[in-house]
Amino acid sequence: MARLAAVPATLITLVCLVACSSDPQTDRAAAPESPSANASRTPQSPAPQTSKTGSPSPETPARAPRADIDAVRPATAMAAVRHLAGDVGPRPGTSPAFHRAADWVEQRLFTLGWQVRRQAFHTPGGVSWGVPVPAGRSVNLVATRGDVRPGRPWLAVGAHLDTVPQAPGAEDNASGVGVLLTVAEAVADARTRLPVVLVAFGSEEPRGPGDDDHHFGSRAFVSELGVAERRTLRGMVSLDRVGVGAVLPVSSAREPDALRAQLLAAARRANVPVDPQTNNRASDHWSFVRTGLPGVRLGSTPYAGYHSAGDVPAVVNRDQLERTARTVVAWLGGR
Ligand SMILES: [Zn+2]
Repeated sequence: MARLAAVPATLITLVCLVACSSDPQTDRAAAPESPSANASRTPQSPAPQTSKTGSPSPETPARAPRADIDAVRPATAMAAVRHLAGDVGPRPGTSPAFHRAADWVEQRLFTLGWQVRRQAFHTPGGVSWGVPVPAGRSVNLVATRGDVRPGRPWLAVGAHLDTVPQAPGAEDNASGVGVLLTVAEAVADARTRLPVVLVAFGSEEPRGPGDDDHHFGSRAFVSELGVAERRTLRGMVSLDRVGVGAVLPVSSAREPDALRAQLLAAARRANVPVDPQTNNRASDHWSFVRTGLPGVRLGSTPYAGYHSAGDVPAVVNRDQLERTARTVVAWLGGR
């Protein structure tokens, strides 16, 4: 903590968020001088250093009730799907529509009691699902409850907020962002087995054919993790297309996969039927796994409106959003 020792606690809270889980010596994400770690925020946003409980640097209270799958409110997820796909519409990762969507999600997370850091990053231009898209700035929204600590284990749940240019992206991936917000609501004041970081990723969708031509936001997030943050991450779950079907795909990139086994056990506790899959590298969990970190994906059931103008809120099923959110909350709350 040498570099941060003389800094007031409130400022540490501002600067750290997720970044404080790493050694300052190796922690690029926490470094105030790091250009890509700017905690830039919208002017209308409330101050990030307090939760809705008003405590300046809140630990999750020791006596808070354990995260409860029955606290899941699928209406929260459906409202996000309707707003993002119905009102905002197509939102490629560098587009004005994407940034409007990011402002909205940031405000929702604040309202639910989470502290949010903006992690800006560059996305190259390219061809996204047949349509040229320009280079530009995108952003990840990184939310915590203020309980992530240096060198202590933590968990991450993420969902990409961007779409391909031709799709309003109800299932891909307002569904994932909706479940992310539902989880944020369900565990805001509850005890989880480890501190949790929620991330709405920018620029997941492909801008070319190669493995380096997609997942730009999650790769930026992973690349800015310090050594201690990498060492203490116990699992990342990507929510990507989680509102179609009646069975929840639980996918790993490789097999066997201990984290996938954890999610399958959580689904069992939540009484959610699952479809275990492997060899899935098509979402943000792959940015973690490809660098040696634990990551799995929930979702991916095929549907007719995929990457088209037909990806509208009507394709998303409220019950499937609920199944997904209950599985995540069971995982976060499990012992
Ligand atoms: Zn997707």
